[in-house]
Amino acid sequence: MTLRNTVLVAGSANLDFVVRVPHIPAPGETVLGSNFLTFPGGKGANQAVACARAGGVPTRMLLALGADDFAAPLEQSLRQAGVDARVVRIADAATGVAFICLAADAENAITVAPGANARLQADDLPDLSDTSHLLMQLESPLEAVTGWALVARNAGVRTVLNAAPARSLPAELLAAIDVLVVNEGELAVISGESGPIATAVERLGKANVVVTLGAHGSCAHIDGEWLVQSAFAVDAVDTTGAGDTFCGALVAALAQGHGFAVALRRASAAASLACTRMGAQAGVPQAVEVEELLANGRESSSPDELR
Ligand code: ATP
Repeated sequence: MTLRNTVLVAGSANLDFVVRVPHIPAPGETVLGSNFLTFPGGKGANQAVACARAGGVPTRMLLALGADDFAAPLEQSLRQAGVDARVVRIADAATGVAFICLAADAENAITVAPGANARLQADDLPDLSDTSHLLMQLESPLEAVTGWALVARNAGVRTVLNAAPARSLPAELLAAIDVLVVNEGELAVISGESGPIATAVERLGKANVVVTLGAHGSCAHIDGEWLVQSAFAVDAVDTTGAGDTFCGALVAALAQGHGFAVALRRASAAASLACTRMGAQAGVPQAVEVEELLANGRESSSPDELR
């Protein structure tokens, strides 16, 4: 019998073009920027890197790349993190890119050209016989995500959806998800309830919902019980990718057999560390750094949103 211990992340990979600007340009305006950098990004790839760096379980990723020069750095970043990349090559599409203006006041403006990411299909899913968890996001076509979730569910694989960027979900997809991970804004869109978190979560009627709360930490409604997890006290310089690091580390911990309370704490430590560095994948911490923070770090006060 094959051992089921692999996490499969199915989703997007983008090359992020980041430029610092004095202010976000108004329509028709040109501003002179500085410090141009490129970073491997995309929610799927960020989460795969976070899962692999958390260690303890093999990580595979299904992604689509175009036939251009932007594909290579994305593959290299996954390889360096130890992710086994299953690449669908789309000859007539560009690799996904994101253009990010970072303003001096920390405001940002982002344009994404999904390119090859938009061409992933339901039947691109690889064999799942060694897969314990499938982690997905909403930067891939909704039909593909729904198809992957249904196939995985039928194959006995635990399905996890980070419902970002937010959009309303077909009932068929929501029903096929075992663990939903959202931030507060995404929770409001998906549940149609912008009131208290507890009300919005109840309206979803799902057994396992995790809600991230930025610097306030996270909470989770698991089989009718609430868990609350603080963020760790860090000097945050760039929160880009914090949510992705949280998702990857959470699923790595669940796939190792930890319960939700332990998985939330590990995800919180990894995500808090990610806030201390620039770049999405570049900011994902190594397992040894997470262990150090778990052992010696200070948790900031508990999230109060539920009270
Ligand atoms: P993003 O889309 O920017 O990646 P998100 O909205 O999906 O983020 P958040 O809720 O902002 O996700 O953050 C995810 C987790 O990162 C939080 O639950 C927390 O553990 C950690 N985190 C976020 N901001 C901070 C911070 N300023 N200090 C410490 N930890 C933080």
